[in-house]
Amino acid sequence: MPKKPKIAFYWCSSCGGCEESILDLAEDILAVVEAVDIVFWPVALDVKYKDVAAMGDGEITATLINGAIRIDEHESMARLLRQKSKLLIAHGSCAHLGGVVSLANFSEREDIFTRLYSDVPTVKNPQGLFPKSGTIDSGNYLELPGFNDTVKTLDQVVEVDYYIPGCPPTPELIKEAIMAVLEDRLPERGAVLAESKALCHTCPLKESKPETIRIKKFKRLYEFEWDPSRCFLEQGIVCLGPVTRGGCNARCIGANMPCSGCFGPLDNVTDQGAKAASFLASLIDSTDEEELQRITASIPDPAGLFYRYSLASSMLKGKVAGNKSD
Ligand code: SF4
Ligand code: SF4
Repeated sequence: MPKKPKIAFYWCSSCGGCEESILDLAEDILAVVEAVDIVFWPVALDVKYKDVAAMGDGEITATLINGAIRIDEHESMARLLRQKSKLLIAHGSCAHLGGVVSLANFSEREDIFTRLYSDVPTVKNPQGLFPKSGTIDSGNYLELPGFNDTVKTLDQVVEVDYYIPGCPPTPELIKEAIMAVLEDRLPERGAVLAESKALCHTCPLKESKPETIRIKKFKRLYEFEWDPSRCFLEQGIVCLGPVTRGGCNARCIGANMPCSGCFGPLDNVTDQGAKAASFLASLIDSTDEEELQRITASIPDPAGLFYRYSLASSMLKGKVAGNKSD
């Protein structure tokens, strides 16, 4: 019997949603399991790191890694899996662009620890215990993974062949990516495996989006009775569909939520946040200084809005916090 291609899955700093997205393949996962040997998948299979280390270089046909790079163990596993895999695929926004996890780059490493282990109102830590780099257990020294200064994308650590966008990606995209690997019909190396057009092109509300939109106030969903059958942006609600890659089946729009940008920027855009900010600025209907300030102040949480999925891959990276690693 011919040998099946080997596939691996790994997670770095991940919420688990991307792992769920594989399970969301539902009965299609049977077709995938039938076609491949899954040789490593920590969330589902008891395969040890040393088993991966014992594999030959390039032995794994394709590895999908989700989650951002936060600790040094993520870096070493990314390097090991790169070495053992013919193809390395960044799976989901965190691996692709840094994701929600990389919003931590707005804070210094020490401030994150202080907040988490001391200042959060629900934390009680009278001994002032903070994470350490090692500990003694039953007379044995245990080294713990180091916490890096900044969150990185996967391709800031190792070469990545392809990207599956989304937070999380749709099961359809994951299945299509795996089938493209198996059927040897992948596009040019480095491609994002989704549509190249903006979400608006496939949005079910696109017919109600006017040619020109002028905005006097950015409104939040709870502030007024909005019409779910009309384009969000046309009603003054921030929707990043015009500057976000399509291919998500407009899941959020279908659930009456505007696009928040998880599929990342279109090709040739280097900074998703800067692009989104300049796009929204172009819609503001005023030239009066005071009114401009009032309208821009109505944009909710600008840093979190524009860089929600892409801070690590942006031009800002972690420099905002003055981290030494950049
Ligand atoms: S991309 Fe989204 S779903 Fe996937 S690990 Fe990151 S936060 Fe979770
Ligand atoms: S701006 Fe948003 S709601 Fe309007 S057409 Fe584009 S994706 Fe759809």
